[in-house]
Amino acid sequence: MALEMKRQAMDRLNDEVRACARCCLAATRNHALCGEGTLDAALLVVALSPGAREDVDDTMFVGPSGPVLDRLLGAAGITRDQVYMTNLIKCLLPKNRRPKMIEIETCYPFVKREIEIIRPSVIVPLGYYATRTILTAYHANPPAARVDFRPLYASLIVSDGQTIFPLPHPSFLLYSPHFEPETAEQYKKLNNLLT
Ligand code: SF4
Repeated sequence: MALEMKRQAMDRLNDEVRACARCCLAATRNHALCGEGTLDAALLVVALSPGAREDVDDTMFVGPSGPVLDRLLGAAGITRDQVYMTNLIKCLLPKNRRPKMIEIETCYPFVKREIEIIRPSVIVPLGYYATRTILTAYHANPPAARVDFRPLYASLIVSDGQTIFPLPHPSFLLYSPHFEPETAEQYKKLNNLLT
């Protein structure tokens, strides 16, 4: 898809996202966040959801996880504007609670359309919920137990013709900062996937 056609398709999609009231999260959000970044990116990063700061500012990763993400991408020699970033759930989860399956299922069609527009070489889901959802969407048989997802991080998975490279979510390091060197090593592998 030519870049201008991508831009038009994404503009239409983003209008739908901003006006969406398909699930109960519409009642408590300030903004439904749209994806950000370059439309011809090789890497499409799928985070979980906006936090409180993102919900107010209508911008991705401006809260505490933002500097962590920048450091991790920086370890790979990548800046935000080289990738396309979006959220699995476009609206704030009140009190940072876990997403419900119905919320993921209701919001995922937006992510699916973003993938169809961007056509990334690699989808990079961040953390458990995004990884589980993307692996399920591409029939990659995700593990049943959450604890079994950690070995999947920084491993290249190809399923249904799509390459998927799960990574830990940056917010994980807000609670476990001693894992940052190990996580940076995992993010460094993104550099090999840029082309
Ligand atoms: S979370 Fe997704 S489906 Fe629910 S209201 Fe927001 S944009 Fe719509």
